[in-house]
Formats: sequence, structure tokens, C-alpha cells
Amino acid sequence: MEFERHNNFFPSLNSFSIKILPEHVASKIAAGEVVNRPSSVVKELLENSLDADATEIHIIIKDGGKSLIQIVDNGMGMSDDDALLAFQRHATSKISSFEDLEQLHSFGFRGEALASVSAVAQVEMRTRTNQNDVGTLVKIDGNTITEQSKIATEIGTWLAVRNLFFNTPARKNFLKSNSTEFRHIVNVVQRIAIAFPNVKFFFVSDGEKIFSLPSQTLPERLNALFGESVSKNVLPVSEGNEIISVEGFIGKPTYFLKTQSEQFFFLNKRIIQSKNLSHAVFQGYENMLEKGSFPFFCLFINIDMKKVDVNVHPSKMEVKFDDENGVYRLVLSAVRKTLSDGEVIPELLFTNSDIRSSFSQTSSETKRDFFLQSPPQQFSFPRQSILSFTKEFLSTISSSSIEKEIEQTSVTKSEIIPLQQVHNQYILCAANDGITIIDQHAAHERVLYEKYLYLFETNAPSSQQLLFSLTFELTSADAILVSEQQLNFEKLGFQLKFFGKTTLVIEGIPSDVRVGRESNIFREVLDKFKEEFAVKIDAREALVKTFACKAAIKKGDALLYEEMRSLLEQLSQTQIPHVCPHGRPITLKLTLHELDKKFGRIL
Ligand code: ADP
Ligand code: MG
Repeated sequence: MEFERHNNFFPSLNSFSIKILPEHVASKIAAGEVVNRPSSVVKELLENSLDADATEIHIIIKDGGKSLIQIVDNGMGMSDDDALLAFQRHATSKISSFEDLEQLHSFGFRGEALASVSAVAQVEMRTRTNQNDVGTLVKIDGNTITEQSKIATEIGTWLAVRNLFFNTPARKNFLKSNSTEFRHIVNVVQRIAIAFPNVKFFFVSDGEKIFSLPSQTLPERLNALFGESVSKNVLPVSEGNEIISVEGFIGKPTYFLKTQSEQFFFLNKRIIQSKNLSHAVFQGYENMLEKGSFPFFCLFINIDMKKVDVNVHPSKMEVKFDDENGVYRLVLSAVRKTLSDGEVIPELLFTNSDIRSSFSQTSSETKRDFFLQSPPQQFSFPRQSILSFTKEFLSTISSSSIEKEIEQTSVTKSEIIPLQQVHNQYILCAANDGITIIDQHAAHERVLYEKYLYLFETNAPSSQQLLFSLTFELTSADAILVSEQQLNFEKLGFQLKFFGKTTLVIEGIPSDVRVGRESNIFREVLDKFKEEFAVKIDAREALVKTFACKAAIKKGDALLYEEMRSLLEQLSQTQIPHVCPHGRPITLKLTLHELDKKFGRIL
């Protein structure tokens, strides 16, 4: 993933020097308290270091940042004069007029952080630019300069903030325990470290190393911060154009977390929060999310600020886009596209070796060529048919812009052929790059789910007339539920008639109900629907999901060859062919590469 190219959002600031903003400009900038706890100091200082183009940053804290926050960077540093000016309110090198504000590329612009911090702490700064052989030392104590002298120091800025809130006891009392404040700091450092994987970060708290991060790629950084399994369980996202794009990673549908703590949005590398965009991501997972489970995501929205209107609240991290819907659709379409991709399928034997990189190390040219010719995705269903269905499907529920995005997706062809049903439960298949095993129930469930969701949406029920109608005596509670949901049951293909309050006559059932299941299907769907509906608000989804589950081929059902073939064909036309409506995998694969490794043909 190429994140480096977005560095132009942070152009070098070398050509600027610090100016005091005129009052009328300063007042236009929503001020707000910059410093309310140690982690906000850390955030401001780290952002200053990054604005100064630092490539290596050390963070040293003591007592949750209460007694010491020390940030050392190798950025551009400050001249003698600037070192003093920096501590004045509204002193900033980053903008000089209100017009500049609209095209802001740096983190800082209010010229407030250093002034605010030095008003409530004892600050010591050593700084030197590459223009000077000697640096500057400034000591400030609650806004009074206590020392200013020349000092030998590295290029960059060394800043220590001691005894935060020493002169404002009320605010000091407001601070939480050291460990809580420490956690807030970790959060801030983590987020900034994700946004700048190419920058080295060293973090020490109370003499203990918390992390030391080399310059790395984003997946490497995610692994370093959240554990080695992360990069194996995420899928790349990339969508958009020069003006607005979204890139990053989202968790595979089989990898969910119990909390929302690992969900990150960045706007031009600045961490942001947006309920609207989070919703777009959830919407993208649609039916794969169980209640109480949350996907991992780390998404970078990159916007050309000159072309798109964005209003970022300076301290609260909330953003408002002019075209809120457009951004929503972009994120939604990006997530959907990623999830409908072949790479969602789990591999049977997962190794993190990339085929191409491991083969470029072998000496044999022929081998290398062979593998380089095969597509980097290991397996995917014929894309053409997925696309046509998706288009049709989407046109009923979303805007035309998503269709356009999806139309542009490249088409890759590959095939899987059923070989044998195993234990009346799994279908063993030959794929062009290995062996695929399909869970017959989950596969059929997915097919029915998408088909009936579509029929439901378009209000075109597909029904079969029963030769002999069925009569049920319902409890009064069930009778109320069924009459309430009668229209929905009918959209699914059931033809219902009430005689009296509790006698239900069924004259028709959805056309996909298998022979022999006709008399039980309604009861089964109703019972399961009651459970589902209790936890889901959306009756439509609960109903379709329930029907798909109950009407699908079951474990133990013997299949004819033709039936297997037809099931695979239909599966290939679904939008998300690799995950069942409950989020479980439908397909597992064993690649040729893995087989060759297991048989000792390659290392
Ligand atoms: P802002 O970041 O909003 O401009 P600050 O009070 O955070 O305001 O910083 C004031 C100025 O001090 C910055 O504009 C920048 O010129 C300078 N400065 C602060 N920290 C650093 C640093 N680590 N390296 C170089 N310059 C810095
Ligand atoms: Mg700043």
C-alpha cells in the first residue's frame, strides 16, 4: 500500500518562519482548551514534531505524564528568535491569513499549544536548525522565561514538560490515576504511529520500554502494535481518485473483536471520529456482523482540501464533510468491494509468506515465471457473473455511484469444478490454483439469502402453490406476530390466509423450498424468526436470514453431481460468496503452493 504519496499533505515548512497571528485571524479559529490532560500535551507535541518533518521521535514519560513528558525529535528545529516566539499565544509558522486556513496541510495552525502548555507547566526546550551550529535553550516556568542561552544540541527539538498543572491545583486534582493517564497517552501515541508508519517511534514510560517502532509499512506497524495476527486477518481497501480516496485495511469477516477499540479513521493522516463513516463501514459488512462483534478497521481518507469542503473541529476530532453522502458512499463501496473479493476465503494452511516474494528468491527462472503468471489473488469465482448480479442487486438499494465504482473493478476469471461430495456435508472441488472445500449448507444459505433479499426488496416474491393447503392452529401470541408480519411473509413467497384469529391456512410457499420440506418450513421459519427478531430490529433481515437457513440444503443431504454444479454456479453469482449470512466461512482452500510445500517439493 502506498501511503507515502500523501505526504504532500504535509509540505515542508522550511520556507516559513513564525509570525504572530493578527487578532482578527486568531479569533476566527475555534480555540478551545488545548491542554486538559497529559495525553493532550503528548498529542500536541507529537503533531509539532511531525509538522517539523521529524522521522524519528522519542517519547519519555513519568507518572502517566504528570511529572514528565519529554519529546525528542529530529525535525527541522527552530532558530534562536523562533524558539522564543513559539511560546507566545497565536504564534505559528504554519498560517498567516484566514485564506490559508482553508488549505491547511499541517496539524498545527492555532499557535496555541506551546503557549498553553508553558502556562501550566515547567517547560524546557533545546532546539537547533541545520542552519546553525549551536542550538538554543529556553526554560519557561508558568509562562515566565527563566533562562535563555546557547547550547550544544542535535538538529531537531528536545522538549520536556515537567509537573503539569503545578500552578493550577484544581486542574491537577482533576487528573486520573497514573495508569489511566498512561493509557490515554498510549492511545494517542498508537494512533499517531499508525498514521505515520514510516516515522520511527520510541516510547518509554517510567523507565520501561513500551515500544520501539522502526520505519515500516502499515501492515508491519499494525502487527507491531496489535499483534502478529492482525495483518493476516485484514484485507486491503483502496478506492477513489485524486480528489478523494479511502485506503487502508479492514478485518476479514471471520475476524471480529468484542470492542470498538481497534477502529481508526484518519482524514489526511489526522485522527478523526465520524459516526456517519463508522456506519458506512458497518453497512458494508451488512449481514456478516453478529450483535456485539466489531470489525477491525484502519481507514485513511485522503482529501484534496482545495477541492472538497471539510470542517474539522480543532480539538474534538469531529469532522463534517460538505458532501457527507458522497463520502459515505465512497467508504461503503470500498468496504463492499473488498469484502466481495476472493481474498476473503481463509486458506487451510496459512503462512504469511507471499508467493511472489518467496519465489523471487529461487534461482530457477522457469519456476518464477510460472508463478508470476498466476494472478496474485489465489482464487476467485468468475467475476463477470458476480458483477452483473451485484449491479442489479445494488440498483435497488443504493445509488448509481456505487455501481459505477463496481463496474470499474477489473475482471479476473478462474474456475472451480466440483469433484466429490464428502460425508454428505462438504463439496470437494478442483480450483485452478489448488483445492477448494465448500460447506454445502453455508453455500446454499448464502445463495438463498441474497436471492430472497433481492426478491424481498423488489417486492417480487417467488412462490409455489401448494397442491393441498396446510392448516395451522397458532397460539394467540404467534397469531399476533404472524398477522403483524403477514406482508413480510408474503414478500418472501408465503401465501397466508387467516380463518378466525388463530387458524392459519398456507396456500403457497417460497419456490426454493425443497421437496419433502413443504409442510415444516413455515413452522421452522416462524420459530427461528422469533429468536432472530428478538435481537434484531430489522424484520426483513431477520426473516430472510431465517428462511435462508431453514430452506437451505442441510448437512447430511446427499447431492447429485448436477446439484453440486448448480450450487457452485449460483454461489459464484452472489455478492459475498465466501462468508455465510452468519459470518462463518463458506469456502476453505488449499493452494498448490501449500500442497507443494507439504509434499516437500519446495521449501
Ligand atoms: P502551532 O503548531 O499551532 O503552530 P504551537 O504552539 O504548537 O502552534 O507551536 C508554535 C510554533 O512553534 C509552530 O508553528 C512551529 O513553528 C514551532 N514549533 C513547535 N514545535 C516544534 C518542533 N518540534 N520542531 C520545530 N518547530 C516547532
Ligand atoms: Mg502545534
